[in-house]
Amino acid sequence: MASTGGDGVQAISVQQPWAFAIARGGKSVCNQPLPTAYRGPVLIHASMRVDLKACDSPLVQRAGWNPRDPLATLGAVIAVAEVVDVCSATATNGSCDCGPWAEPGAHHWRLAEVLPLPRPVVALGRPGLWEPQPTLVTEVRTMLAATAALHRS
Ligand SMILES: [Zn+2]
Repeated sequence: MASTGGDGVQAISVQQPWAFAIARGGKSVCNQPLPTAYRGPVLIHASMRVDLKACDSPLVQRAGWNPRDPLATLGAVIAVAEVVDVCSATATNGSCDCGPWAEPGAHHWRLAEVLPLPRPVVALGRPGLWEPQPTLVTEVRTMLAATAALHRS
């Protein structure tokens, strides 16, 4: 995968307001219909679809959902994170302690090291886990490096 230039970094498209809740609201579980063996860095991409009903949910409101926030956008990478584990307990009728963001019946992709981007990077998404263009990975990394440098000075 190194030949692609993206170092095997993956991306996942998530509907708003859930993507925002990951980027800004401490949502550390990504509910997916399928599990993954992938562990490592992932770009959090806000898909073109909005879960309108979820925007009014107390959980999302508590996460600070703000439609005017730049990261509330559609069709863009808005954060990076690490996939550290996948919990399939409730998908197989068991129970788990993944917390309030975990939907029963879904596979819980557990995220860590979430970093919101200073501004969204427009990109086309795909369902499930997808491999971003190397140029997209580079753009996101450059932006994060610039932000880190800013914070050090
Ligand atoms: Zn779980």
